[in-house]
Amino acid sequence: MSDSDLSRLILDRIRDVPDYPQPGVVFKDITPLLSDPEAFAAVTDAFAGLHEVDKVVGIEARGFILAAPAAYKARAGFVPVRKKGKLPSETLDEAYDLEYGSAVIEVHRDAFAPGDRVLIVDDVLATGGTARATVELVRRAGAEVVAVAVLMELSFLKGRERLTGVELHPLVVV
Ligand code: AMP
Repeated sequence: MSDSDLSRLILDRIRDVPDYPQPGVVFKDITPLLSDPEAFAAVTDAFAGLHEVDKVVGIEARGFILAAPAAYKARAGFVPVRKKGKLPSETLDEAYDLEYGSAVIEVHRDAFAPGDRVLIVDDVLATGGTARATVELVRRAGAEVVAVAVLMELSFLKGRERLTGVELHPLVVV
């Protein structure tokens, strides 16, 4: 499938929900894409074909849905990065700023072998804070971040600028 066919497939199946979860935010709802077999497979293939990696990291929660099948397809392991307090064993954590307030994400301390090559996957890159914190977490856990891949980059929020030095693969940019 060409890049422009893939972009069209994705754009046609991401629903804009205005004022969710709060006024002024346009939420990018990926559930129509996930429920379409052809689109879900095409996106999974695109993520899985980016790089040879040892692990694919999914960022809670929609990142899990995209990263896990990509890891399976790439014959890589899957690693969840979760909001604080959800992982049962020993963790590393990383705090980052949100528009209002802050958040903390975690990964299991033993999730990676030293030098593991890692692809980080999420649905939407907005301000880039979540992706940046995940990059830091994976590096602190002893692995190498090969790239960050997202379904959709919201370019007007300039998240890309927080990922300098990291390869970024948005499947579509709006
Ligand atoms: P950010 O840290 O600002 O780049 O936000 C990225 C995280 O928040 C991702 O995990 C997204 O799932 C979620 N997110 C941010 N903005 C949106 C949006 N407009 N629509 C859907 N998800 C979003």
